[in-house]
Amino acid sequence: MQFVFDPPQPTSVAVADSEQRLPLHRVYCVAKNYAAHAREMGDDPERIPPAFFLKPADTVVAIEGGVVYPPATSNLHHEVELVVALGAGGRNVGVDAARQMVFGYAVGIDLTRRDLQQEARAVGGPWDSGKSFEQAAPVSAVYPRERTGYLEAGRIWLEVNGQIRQDGDISAMIWNTAEVISRLSELFELKPGDLIFTGTPEGVGAIVPGDHLRGGIDGVGEFSLHIRG
Ligand code: MN
Repeated sequence: MQFVFDPPQPTSVAVADSEQRLPLHRVYCVAKNYAAHAREMGDDPERIPPAFFLKPADTVVAIEGGVVYPPATSNLHHEVELVVALGAGGRNVGVDAARQMVFGYAVGIDLTRRDLQQEARAVGGPWDSGKSFEQAAPVSAVYPRERTGYLEAGRIWLEVNGQIRQDGDISAMIWNTAEVISRLSELFELKPGDLIFTGTPEGVGAIVPGDHLRGGIDGVGEFSLHIRG
């Protein structure tokens, strides 16, 4: 096959304690999946069904490498999230089958240019400029499910320069990971290599160049992330 120019390499993420990498297909994100975070964003969590958006796969970067503070914002927010990596695809899968599709788990940050997202929300516009910039999805290595088990509970936390900002438990998700996968599969044909950011607990806030973030999820792992200027 001849291309007009060399096609980009596929995006991939590391698999913990393995030489192999997981090639990425799509990156799905759940918009509001913890009631207290939905409230801090001005919504009534009782009234919102799961809402999804996507980030391009090439926004994913290895979290330990750090990220550069993005352009066009003065309000970059952290959202620490459990990331589910799929090892199998499917359409219209039930909740039990959805569990079997999980390859493993990672910790990720859904970096958000909150000022641009809020401007879009105000006019009912799309969120892409707030959510889909370069390096907007730093993620840890993926920890295979054989090692972690199927995760339904565990502390999820993030601190900035040693100060705790987010401290929740993944059992507080409005829609658990199997329900999220099942619902997504009604809307999209899921594929191996899909990542799903499953939403963030309350306590999101601004970060600035020079900040050091640390965080983790019990049963998955911990990370540190440097925001470069
Ligand atoms: Mn998020």
